[in-house]
Amino acid sequence: MGQFSSSRRALVRLGVAGVGAWVAGCAVVPQPAKPRVVVVGGGWGGLGAARTLAEGGQVAVTLIEPNDAFMSCPLSVHYVAGFTAASDYQRSYANVDRAGIRRVRARVTEIDRAGSVVVAGGERHPYDFLVLSPGVEYIEEAVQGYAAAREQLPVGFRAFEQQAVRRQVDAFLERGGEFVITVPKPPYRCPPAPYERAFLIAEQMKRRGTKGKIVVVDANPNPMPPPIAAPIVNAMKSVYSREIEYVTNTEVSAVDIGRRVLVTPTGDVRFTAANMVLPMRAPALIRQAGLGERWAAVRLPSFQSQADEKIYIVGDAQGTPLPKSGHVAFGAGKQVAHDIERRVAGQPAPAASGAVTLPAGICWAAVTHNEAIMINVAASVEPGQAPKLSFQVDPKHSLASGQGAQQWGESMWNQMLG
Ligand SMILES: Cc1cc2nc3c(=O)[nH]c(=O)nc-3n(C[C@H](O)[C@H](O)[C@H](O)COP(=O)(O)OP(=O)(O)OC[C@H]3O[C@@H](n4cnc5c(N)ncnc54)[C@H](O)[C@@H]3O)c2cc1C
Repeated sequence: MGQFSSSRRALVRLGVAGVGAWVAGCAVVPQPAKPRVVVVGGGWGGLGAARTLAEGGQVAVTLIEPNDAFMSCPLSVHYVAGFTAASDYQRSYANVDRAGIRRVRARVTEIDRAGSVVVAGGERHPYDFLVLSPGVEYIEEAVQGYAAAREQLPVGFRAFEQQAVRRQVDAFLERGGEFVITVPKPPYRCPPAPYERAFLIAEQMKRRGTKGKIVVVDANPNPMPPPIAAPIVNAMKSVYSREIEYVTNTEVSAVDIGRRVLVTPTGDVRFTAANMVLPMRAPALIRQAGLGERWAAVRLPSFQSQADEKIYIVGDAQGTPLPKSGHVAFGAGKQVAHDIERRVAGQPAPAASGAVTLPAGICWAAVTHNEAIMINVAASVEPGQAPKLSFQVDPKHSLASGQGAQQWGESMWNQMLG
């Protein structure tokens, strides 16, 4: 197992708390550099890693993120459906900067596995350990004609893209017609999210008397993931039977923007406005660096790349069966930070025996502006086996879970950005 190089480790030990900066006679001895950790992506996974590493103080942390602020996807459905302002889900990186993290506002364009990342413009940032949490990329080519229609059919499953969906929702609530939401086959980010968007837009239809319907065109036979299918279908039938039409087993193959139809094997689906949730994969950066095919290939429980032991991949870009959830991403980020600290300190890896607990997931599917379904996922893995997931899901939406979702969001944003 590749450990941190012994010469650098020795320097790290010498450099603890600045010991050795001065010697008798006042000659200045340069303080040995701390090991360098570069974290790519200032979202849920990247912040989990960067904040934990900064707290530990053993390494120099560089966080590379193109946006100058954070925006949450969790809970942003309330904004997308017109109940709240976008600013409710946005936070500044000021406290990340104050925590001693060197933040570089840039997009990484290349990973040089010899030990550096390159950002747009060509600047190089060397690393001893690299943590990647760049989220997801949409597979636009899965739907013929999508690229030309992108602006009118936004996905909005990444930070700051929610505004484009909100514009479609506002136009629909004003004029009526058919609002189409598509659902891809998993794995994709936050499987319950398309259904919660349908619910809250339907709630606004009722409030505003919008004429028309929401059509959810699902590539799956039931709402995803399977343990939440029953409460989601129950909410569709009991709360929104007039507003939502649910079409299952239907995958969109093409879009004809001129005729405003989505093409499916069972016929065309007309839309006046739409939120097209496309199939997803890890960003190209990961595939180009040879770290995986559709998703990054990692080892569990460490989240170390299968191809490179200096690289960790957390969050939605990694390809384990763990849910693509912010809670899991943040927990995995924290976990890899501790693993890096262990390696820097030259401590051995824990012996592999028995089941190891993996980062847990909490997800919320809003059904109305103040009610939600809570989804808890516990996960563990035994050496050489696939991870085991166990779901605990509210049988029905409730006000208590609606409040729980808001409290959870505030607490997570505080841990990441407070
Ligand atoms: C509508 C919706 C509702 C959701 N609800 C929940 C919920 O209730 N609970 C829950 O736990 N999860 C929920 N999620 C899922 C959650 O948002 C994701 O699982 C989480 O964001 C994954 O974290 P990440 O770090 O992998 O990616 P992100 O949080 O997306 O962060 C990726 C970051 O990397 C940056 N980046 C990308 N490429 C580069 C590059 N080349 N160089 C530098 N930086 C780069 C991006 O700008 C971004 O800031 C929801 C998602 C959606 C879309």
